[in-house]
Amino acid sequence: MTEDASPKKELAAIKGTKDILPGEVEKWQALEGLARETFELYGYRELRAPLLEATELFEKGTGETSDIVTKEMYTFTDKGGRSLTLRPEYTPSVVRAIIEHRLDLQPEPMRYYYMGPMFRYDKPQKGRYRQFHQVDIEVFGEKDAAVDAEVIEMADTLLRKLGVEERETLVNSVGCRACRPAYSQALRAEAQKRKNDLCPDCQRKAETNPLRIFDCKVESCQTVARSFPLIQDFLCGECISHFNKLLLFLNQYRIIYRVEPRLVRGIDYYTKTTFEIVSGHLGAQNALLGGGRYDDMMKEFGGPDICGIGFAMGMERVLAVAELAPAKRKSLYLAYLGEEAKKAGLELARFLRANGVECLVEFKDRGMKAHFGRANKLEAAWVLIVGEDEMKKGRFGLKEMATGRQVDGTRDELLTILRGE
Ligand code: AMP
Repeated sequence: MTEDASPKKELAAIKGTKDILPGEVEKWQALEGLARETFELYGYRELRAPLLEATELFEKGTGETSDIVTKEMYTFTDKGGRSLTLRPEYTPSVVRAIIEHRLDLQPEPMRYYYMGPMFRYDKPQKGRYRQFHQVDIEVFGEKDAAVDAEVIEMADTLLRKLGVEERETLVNSVGCRACRPAYSQALRAEAQKRKNDLCPDCQRKAETNPLRIFDCKVESCQTVARSFPLIQDFLCGECISHFNKLLLFLNQYRIIYRVEPRLVRGIDYYTKTTFEIVSGHLGAQNALLGGGRYDDMMKEFGGPDICGIGFAMGMERVLAVAELAPAKRKSLYLAYLGEEAKKAGLELARFLRANGVECLVEFKDRGMKAHFGRANKLEAAWVLIVGEDEMKKGRFGLKEMATGRQVDGTRDELLTILRGE
């Protein structure tokens, strides 16, 4: 594109957002197809929630002390004076939808998946965007650690299908309402002692939610966090037993994992299990997906006391390391000569499309040579030739571009060839 042809700066796509163009979109479609197919095999169904939600939903769900809520939300006041937010993550929306539609009263299993854009005002860099896309799954009403393992196994299966070879699974437990307060207190005490070594943001977190210091990217804070007490030493009996069962089930699935005691994840609602799958090839933004259990959110939203667990996978990051080879298109280019042939050609295209053949039809007057030139450019697999002669005979020419082989036949005969029957 010449400089003159690019849009004015103010009309260009905004920082941290991207167009996904034909040529690239096929990989997205392949990922979406594989995700859908995999999740449906485990009994998940799609649930589509709006992009816009009330701001309080994320403040209450994602958590008032999380980086997402304090720094990264796209929040605005609409014309009715209501504070709305472009969703930064999906879980709170699903929980809201369940309560709103009383999905807990339906006989179907509460297993949902979704794919779509999320919005976070973070500093854009490789692997981090302001509009990015997640594949998200959530399960409700299953307390057993077996489901935690199944969710991780499903994520692993999907990544394997996507050809993501070098991946590592990290797991942890962040405790529950019963045992986390003592841990937070110990962390707070430790953070107070080291306050002068923390960045201003973490000094504030030391007061509000010391667990969040583990999320800080500042090197000196990470050094301090490495000396903090570990959650393992504070877990209650129930959390220890849940975690041990999770590890047993992971072993049964032959998932190779590493227990990472500092994996608290950047969202406030997690209880018990947290996990991440990271890639060896992505540099700083190496998390392909992350998730965990959130047993209290539904109740805190005023709904029934139903536990939940889920994960969100970053589509951009997975696509950066996936080995996907979308099937090459096999399209047919219609080459017609003159008005009458055009009409007959359009009828043929309609017939072929109705029978599953992709037809490219353009409405510029072209000679036969120009038609073939254009078909080549479009990388058409076939050219269908419709001229006066062909119309008279009711037999049309079909040229296979890769081999140069040309045949003629009635439309039904050609359809058989095109279908490879
Ligand atoms: P989270 O919702 O923060 O647990 O993130 C889940 C996954 O979404 C991460 O593991 C990333 O793969 C992806 N992700 C999160 N934030 C971004 C972002 N700003 N840009 C691209 N991918 C992201």
